[in-house]
Amino acid sequence: MSNKIKILKDQLNQTIWTDNIEKLKPYLYEQRGNIQGKSSLLILPKNTADVVKIVKVCNKNKIKIVPQGGRTGLCGGTIPNKNGEEVVLSTEKMNQIIQINKDRFYMVVQAGCSLSSIKNKAFENNRFFPLSLPSESSCTIGGNISTNAGGAAVLKYGMTKELVEGIEVVLPNGEILNSIKNIEKDNRGFDPKYIHIGSEGTLGIITKVKLRLFPKINKKVMVIVATNAVENLINLLNYTKNQCYEYFSSFEVNTNIGFDLIKKYYKDIPIPFDNQYSWYAIVELCSYDDLDLEKKIKNIINNSIKNKLIFDAIIPQNLKQYNNIWKTRELLSEAQKLHGKSIKHDISVPIEKIPLFLKRARKCLNNFPKNNILTFGHLAEGNLHYNISKPENMSNSVFNKLHDKVNSNIFEIVHDLGGSFSAEHGIGLIRKKEFKKYTSREELIIKSNLKKLLDPNNIMNPGKIFN
Ligand SMILES: Cc1cc2nc3c(=O)[nH]c(=O)nc-3n(C[C@H](O)[C@H](O)[C@H](O)COP(=O)(O)OP(=O)(O)OC[C@H]3O[C@@H](n4cnc5c(N)ncnc54)[C@H](O)[C@@H]3O)c2cc1C
Repeated sequence: MSNKIKILKDQLNQTIWTDNIEKLKPYLYEQRGNIQGKSSLLILPKNTADVVKIVKVCNKNKIKIVPQGGRTGLCGGTIPNKNGEEVVLSTEKMNQIIQINKDRFYMVVQAGCSLSSIKNKAFENNRFFPLSLPSESSCTIGGNISTNAGGAAVLKYGMTKELVEGIEVVLPNGEILNSIKNIEKDNRGFDPKYIHIGSEGTLGIITKVKLRLFPKINKKVMVIVATNAVENLINLLNYTKNQCYEYFSSFEVNTNIGFDLIKKYYKDIPIPFDNQYSWYAIVELCSYDDLDLEKKIKNIINNSIKNKLIFDAIIPQNLKQYNNIWKTRELLSEAQKLHGKSIKHDISVPIEKIPLFLKRARKCLNNFPKNNILTFGHLAEGNLHYNISKPENMSNSVFNKLHDKVNSNIFEIVHDLGGSFSAEHGIGLIRKKEFKKYTSREELIIKSNLKKLLDPNNIMNPGKIFN
């Protein structure tokens, strides 16, 4: 154990840290199991005062901190480096709902609250918090804000940044920056909370947040549709937007390859349409009032079938069927993990260029059979998860060798089409090279200068986003 870590331990209450190797283990792995780090100290603060104390001692002694929420991030942002000198700070004990104001539609919570606990609390109070991620039972709101998470409700409610009214952050020098105010309007210059949203723990530790709430959803209707071309789904998306923009909440896309994976690893989930088609989309409408959404969706389905945009559609008839259809989409990441190694991409391009992206990407993947390319995701935002599984007959070493080449080919196409190599997962450890390559000089200068200004000792999640 280094001398510095001993100083830190001596200054903290023993109830908020552990150096037990077994207890530390789960905090050192990445969700997908690809990246592993080292650390000899896990700190579990209970409140902002604890965090202030920890950060002040760390800054004074130049001890590096890796903030962690639910550890569901997909870019290695929570992994300490391999020299073992960084300490892990988990917000899991900071899980209190502090206040809910129903009349003013907001909620204040500690940053370590799980997303599902926030959604449940809002629901119990006749309110709705729309952020919707398959990881919602494990991820925390602090992590959601630090990654500016997206998910399945962006179409109607936007990314996490649209849902945050204020945050309290402990800065790298231990001072508190608090933008949680008891007012809705405050235009005294630019709002510093925005630099922390999406900053992946590199600029401070988010300790509390004020979230925007919405009325409870009264009516919801979902349909899963089947077709044979992604172009049809884009036309269906545009048509649905034109018909009922204000009710349109989700448009999630899957393919026959995704259904095959679900069928293989989750045998109890029925596969819609017997998987006879190549493209599928879950379309969901919701409303706060008692509107007849079923009539609206049936109208859309009938016209879309008549115009040959879709070939078939299923409206679930009960909650079980509804949940099972959503599972065919939400379990894809897990199914792919069970299937073995894959090269993953979380890209976005202007939506009208999605067919061109798919065509060009396929062309540069001639080493891979068609069935090894899994495409799914948030088509409404031009955001696809484009993942390539290792073919059974390809050795691990050949697959690993192809990894960088595949990535650079895909990212070049994305860049050429005016897109992003990271639509919603962030940079973390794994996309630093691309961040440097595809970010404009001006933006890089602003971001790295901000990091140096706020964190001159580089104690906050070092080696993530920046080198
Ligand atoms: C099955 C599955 C599906 C997913 N689907 C989506 C999806 O649809 N859309 C999407 O955007 N993401 C998705 N994700 C990714 C992930 O769930 C999100 O990035 C989530 O927002 C991370 O929250 P977390 O609490 O787990 O953060 P962590 O993984 O613990 O941390 C993520 C980053 O935030 C930093 N951090 C965490 N808490 C704090 C804090 N309090 N203060 C400062 N920094 C902090 C960490 O240092 C790290 O850099 C998915 C993940 C899984 C496993």
